[in-house]
Amino acid sequence: MFDGLTERLSGVFDRLGGRGVLSDKDIDEALREVRVALLEADVALPVVKDFISKAKEKAAGESVIRSVKPADQVVKIVYDGLVEMLGGDVPTGLNLALNPPTIILMAGLQGSGKTTTTGKLALRLSKTERKKVLVASLDTRRPAAMEQLATLAKQVGVESLPIVAGQSAPDIAKRALTAARLSGYDVLILDTAGRTTLDEAMMSEAAEIARIANPSETILVADSLTGQDAVRTAKAFHERLPLTGLILTRADGDGRGGAALSMRHVTGLPIKFLGAGEKIDQLDVFDARRVAGRILGQGDVVALVEKAAADLDAAEAERMARKLAKGKFDLDDLSSQLSQMQKMGGMEGIMGLLPGVQKVKKQIAESGIDDSIFRRQQAIISSMTKEERKKPDILAASRKRRIAAGSGVDVAEVNRLLKQHRQMADMFKSMSKDGGKGLARMAGM
Ligand code: GDP
Repeated sequence: MFDGLTERLSGVFDRLGGRGVLSDKDIDEALREVRVALLEADVALPVVKDFISKAKEKAAGESVIRSVKPADQVVKIVYDGLVEMLGGDVPTGLNLALNPPTIILMAGLQGSGKTTTTGKLALRLSKTERKKVLVASLDTRRPAAMEQLATLAKQVGVESLPIVAGQSAPDIAKRALTAARLSGYDVLILDTAGRTTLDEAMMSEAAEIARIANPSETILVADSLTGQDAVRTAKAFHERLPLTGLILTRADGDGRGGAALSMRHVTGLPIKFLGAGEKIDQLDVFDARRVAGRILGQGDVVALVEKAAADLDAAEAERMARKLAKGKFDLDDLSSQLSQMQKMGGMEGIMGLLPGVQKVKKQIAESGIDDSIFRRQQAIISSMTKEERKKPDILAASRKRRIAAGSGVDVAEVNRLLKQHRQMADMFKSMSKDGGKGLARMAGM
């Protein structure tokens, strides 16, 4: 699906790799070519714009890793951007309910591959996850679709709800729910009716079924070959249905990949699986890193840059630890801590690494503290002279005014930063006095 894009990007990187040192102009030009490549792959314009502006920002702020070629660092920036575009490291499997049966609602246009995908999911859940699965077709307008699902169910070895002619879709849904509960099924997959185009009747029926069934997962199946139409379809469905995820079919086809690359950004929904063929077992769990790696085809370069960056971080952490053990913590150290935090995705990124922090997250959101504070604090520090950063004591009122003006904040904010730094420095000093035991405790040693 991404062949064209892969080819274009590898051309960009080949040209870049031929150069030793990269100027800003080289990087700008490379990113311009990346932009064209993404647009040609049919990625939505706002998604491309966002990608390029973030990549530029990163390229400008990237610390130089001496052991890595500049061109390789650009590859890594593009890789990280693609991973983010594809949804990052969010878990992409299905959300199963704590109390069975888990209800999964399938929605999508006719011909998107919805029924086939229902069969694929049923197979996956019953074979790989050993769940007892019931499927039910709600497509009352097309008896053939009901037969198709029943045949598929037989083929994959799961039960399908017996067809009763003349029943309405909501009534079939209710019957399916009762059957699933009474007969101890782990999972019930409801295959709603599709139409060939976006249609009010289809939407309101699907929305009504969602109200009745209260599903754990409401999944839109979209055909990746239809490109930006698929993205528009997803957006329209998402406005009417509480969608929880997407499955893109025909990823094995020769579409340009734009749908897959735009979906996440435009809808905010995770892509959970990719349909990779007509056969019933051709359903791949979606993995942003794997897909980004496949698009770039530069797996070893990415691994190399990641390793070098990790080494650099480790060296920096060690340098900091040695300084702290001597009871020293100047404003340069504070600045490098702030940039470490931003590298980890800011406050949200760091919080995301900690389990059970929902409450803290909420408190932070309510307190109005956000990542812009870190950026402002860094701006304040970078408006200081080298000497001021080493010896904040020399910061008299006139210097503070100059720094405030230079970083676009008021003097009170400069004072707050200095106070915060003083408290941290005092804390490190008192810890280093007890022979570094406090520091060791803090590092969990
Ligand atoms: P529905 O109308 O949305 O239920 O669509 P169907 O499930 O009947 O699928 C329509 C056609 O698309 C069938 O011929 C499927 O075999 C085919 N199809 C579904 N998913 C994929 C896929 O991931 N790759 C390919 N190549 N074909 C698929």
